[in-house]
Amino acid sequence: MTATDARPTSAATTFTSLDPATGEIVGTHPIHDAAHVRAVVEGARHEAGWWRELGHDGRRTALTAWRKLLAARLDELAALMSRETGKPVGDALMEAALAVDHLAWASSNAEKVLRRRSVSAGLLMANQAASVEYRPLGVIGVIGPWNYPVFTPMGSIAYALAAGNAVVFKPSEYTPGVAEWLASRFLEAVGRPVFRVVTGFGATGAALCEAGVDKVAFTGSTATGKRVMAACAQTLTPVVIEAGGKDALLVDADADLDEAADAALWGACANAGQTCAGVERIYVHERVYDDFLARLVAQARELEARPGGQIGPITMPSQVDVIRRHVDDALARGGRAIVGGPVPEGARFVQPTVLVDVPEDSLAVQDETFGPTVTVTKVRDMDEAVEKANGTRYALGSTVFSKANGPAIAERLRAGMTAINGVISFAGIPTLPFGGIGDSGFGRIHGPDGLREFSYPHAIARQRFKAPIALTTFRRSAKQEEQLLKVVRGLYGRGAK
Ligand code: NDP
Repeated sequence: MTATDARPTSAATTFTSLDPATGEIVGTHPIHDAAHVRAVVEGARHEAGWWRELGHDGRRTALTAWRKLLAARLDELAALMSRETGKPVGDALMEAALAVDHLAWASSNAEKVLRRRSVSAGLLMANQAASVEYRPLGVIGVIGPWNYPVFTPMGSIAYALAAGNAVVFKPSEYTPGVAEWLASRFLEAVGRPVFRVVTGFGATGAALCEAGVDKVAFTGSTATGKRVMAACAQTLTPVVIEAGGKDALLVDADADLDEAADAALWGACANAGQTCAGVERIYVHERVYDDFLARLVAQARELEARPGGQIGPITMPSQVDVIRRHVDDALARGGRAIVGGPVPEGARFVQPTVLVDVPEDSLAVQDETFGPTVTVTKVRDMDEAVEKANGTRYALGSTVFSKANGPAIAERLRAGMTAINGVISFAGIPTLPFGGIGDSGFGRIHGPDGLREFSYPHAIARQRFKAPIALTTFRRSAKQEEQLLKVVRGLYGRGAK
């Protein structure tokens, strides 16, 4: 059996996840239909009540128990991730470790971020005491991709649970085993299925959108994100969309070129380039272009995608065709491959590919490639680099290498996140929000924003004493209205022409 045989016939009730490097079966999983998904969501709603009543302290204790179990068995998890995605075990370990770090942050900071706090009532309403609290929404449906099958969905799952919600997770059809493993460890640690998994194909994900969840957190391609949003619109179910990217890395004339080349190569090729915030385009100041390219090329030639190597196979067979199309288009339009070249038919491993002289309007510059390929473009100065970096419909992450001007250049980039003199570092910092704009989606996971994303604000205004100028009554007099006018003019109108 090959990896492409994973899809069962329409009558099947189970499907298999496969090792993309060998085609071997890793596990067999149910294809859950709409009725099952609805029943799971109803069950989760029941658990959500118990979870909410536990309060912040109880949830912190439960999530800490889960975290400890995950940390203790991280190598087991990493091995399974490696089998289902083909990524090296070391990369899987790093991914899972970062997810555990996020879980730790979310569970220990949820109370501080979400609990009721007093806010100023303002001058006109000074007789009121105002406060706001962020409450759980109920049941969150999480739909995740295969490329980071732990780190990416956990950015929603951990924060949604810490905010007091139950979660129903539909993983990618390529990584169902990882999801079930996470949920089994949750049940083992917590004793109640507040976090549940449904498995299957796109139809199962679509069913989750229509199953009565209180919010959907979707991570995946922009095209599927639009379908998810359309389905959720039917029931006015809110959504978070974490979609694709076409991230740029900018190299200024004063950058540390060794560091920049190392970061660029890792950002482009780690996880075989299947990273939403991976580096897909590089813009280099003309003064250091040749020097930077020489270093990048020297390092890239040392890398090889192969079984057991630092770069694994392309997880999803159809993605190889997308990568091939992008490389072919670049070469047909005058681009040159300094490292790598056309992707052979039937390949499951794509070699690191460095493309130069690629026109800005080509597929390899404008569309998400999701492979270990990168374009390198010479620019006059950082103004041109910023303009080109901002020139796609995506806007997820970005990177700047500059000794003197990193923050100033970062300020001008249209992106949800920017790393300066490092790459993708923002994703591993639990206090920073993660997400994009434009075709990269909207809403945020991680950090305080990520906790609030899975809650709703409840505002309370409590009257402390009777207002000197009573406004919200039919007994309001003309004299009081005159007083109000004077107060507003005095407060806000002074100096007006
Ligand atoms: P897809 O959009 O193909 O799938 C994402 C998830 O949606 C899968 O679980 C999929 O199920 C499910 N799905 C498919 N059709 C529907 C539907 N009609 N309704 C509801 N759910 C559906 O993305 P990939 O799995 O290929 O992931 C790669 C993409 O994810 C890339 O574009 C990448 O950039 C993006 N990504 C974004 C991140 C971010 O944080 N911004 C992080 C990681 C990845 P099934 O697999 O069973 O078809």
